[in-house]
Amino acid sequence: MSETIFGKILAGEIPSEFIYEDEHCVAINDINPQAPVHVLVIPRKAIPRLVDAADDDRDLLGHLMLAAGKVAEQLGVADAFRLIVNNGEGAGQTVFHLHLHILAGRGFSEGQMAGFR
Ligand code: 5GP
Repeated sequence: MSETIFGKILAGEIPSEFIYEDEHCVAINDINPQAPVHVLVIPRKAIPRLVDAADDDRDLLGHLMLAAGKVAEQLGVADAFRLIVNNGEGAGQTVFHLHLHILAGRGFSEGQMAGFR
């Protein structure tokens, strides 16, 4: 659980404010925000990449999407936010513990779709 930075945050080994938490996931502000709102929704279960999720993780994956919507509501950005999962190093994944990025508070053009950084 504690082999990635998110595992350490979840284990309480690195202090971090959970802006949302439930039985299956937590949400934290990204340390290096790429938008005025940049939140990470992180499952308590350590799945390295989205592609490593199994059929058994179906409910958890659905839960993460619903949690992202709740966090967006909580932050007042439910009408305009972008949800991103980077899968693999080539796609920009740097922390190998599955997480959803919620980005909001700035404009997004189609051209920015490929890379939000
Ligand atoms: P990835 O590139 O893997 O999709 O996203 C990892 C994200 O985690 C990056 O946006 C990075 O800024 C963020 N991050 C890395 N280390 C920490 C940390 O210790 N605390 C927080 N809150 N965010 C982190």
